[in-house]
Amino acid sequence: MKELVLVKYGEMALKGLNKKTFEDMLTKNIKRRLKAIGNFKLTSAQSTTYITPLDDDIDLGEVVDRVGKIFGIAALCRACVCEKDFDDICNKSYEYLDEVLGCARTFKVNAKRADKAFPMKSPEICAELGGKLLDKFPHLTVDVKNPDVIVTVEIRDENAFVHAENIKGAGGLPVGSSGKAMLLLSGGIDSPVAGWMMAKRGVHIAAIHYVSPPYTSDRAQLKVEQLCQKLTDWCGGIAFFCVPFTELQEAIKDHCPEEFFTIIMRRLMMEIAQRIAAKEGCLALITGESVGQVASQTMAAIACTDAVCRIPVFRPCVGMDKTEIIDISRKIDTFDISTLPYEDCCTVFTPRHPKVRPSLSDVEKAQNSFDFEPLIQKAVEETEMKLFNYEG
Ligand code: ATP
Ligand code: MG
Repeated sequence: MKELVLVKYGEMALKGLNKKTFEDMLTKNIKRRLKAIGNFKLTSAQSTTYITPLDDDIDLGEVVDRVGKIFGIAALCRACVCEKDFDDICNKSYEYLDEVLGCARTFKVNAKRADKAFPMKSPEICAELGGKLLDKFPHLTVDVKNPDVIVTVEIRDENAFVHAENIKGAGGLPVGSSGKAMLLLSGGIDSPVAGWMMAKRGVHIAAIHYVSPPYTSDRAQLKVEQLCQKLTDWCGGIAFFCVPFTELQEAIKDHCPEEFFTIIMRRLMMEIAQRIAAKEGCLALITGESVGQVASQTMAAIACTDAVCRIPVFRPCVGMDKTEIIDISRKIDTFDISTLPYEDCCTVFTPRHPKVRPSLSDVEKAQNSFDFEPLIQKAVEETEMKLFNYEG
């Protein structure tokens, strides 16, 4: 029996003339993600992509796991391929659905007839196949309102398909379809979630991380690299930039008033991020900030940080509670890495009494007491890049 995976488009199904571009991008992303596990044929029609395995030993469960993390997909399922012949549909259904229907008590049949030349209409297919399944599995009853199993028959151009599962896809838009942005990735809980949320909107992510050795350890950097690796499951390839930040942080400590340490540090982070973003073709920055979470995330503090930014800064977690952010981090499996205990550069030289409502002119005055430009340039030059991609 031939089996394949059907992928139904999400929001991109609604894109008018651009649909083909989105579709091509999704197909490319699926191909890249499946390359390591075998050869597949991908075809698209009627807002669906068909993933047909070309090798015998391919684990379709693994295909579903991987494709379930690709953005742009509303739903997916494994399905049995049938001839466009009602008898073949019935015979294959008995065998293919034997296990699921064996365990179920109630079911209904749902038919979709995309090929109107097929001699039976949808209600007729439902009634006839329903009757045959009742004969074959006499323990079953039909429940049209709340069945244990929905058997779906799709009559398409070349084949008919039967399936009994409908798995929710990752939603969103294909990664790459919205351009590229630079994620400020710390080792914390929020920024990986922020990156994931923007990738969901089709943004291809690059990541930047600031390290302050010897105040921060190699293990802290390694933890962020692990986060990057984890994010590739959803985000695809990620260029990771690691910025040496020690000299800048020491200069802040030596030359600026303590109450402004954090806010000036954040302004310098943004400055460096946007310079590297420009070189990499990134059109925006992304952070994991959420209003009110800490002193540097009050509206006044965010305004002072934003004042140095020449490109948009996306903060997708801005209106979320910590518990909501944690729920997502568990779902995308970054939580356990994020909660490893290593120091982040943000916790180096933290002021005892940070200004909660800093005024921009005070911050600028405090920052202008030292010329950071040569150190900024040096940090940008000494930034190292590493590429992360799908594991296996
Ligand atoms: P997170 O959980 O993402 O670390 P947070 O609640 O700890 O966020 P802050 O430490 O104030 O908040 O950092 C706010 C944002 O600044 C982070 O979400 C991240 O985008 C960015 N950021 C903080 N530290 C770093 C770092 N060392 N490298 C890169 N970006 C950072
Ligand atoms: Mg943090």
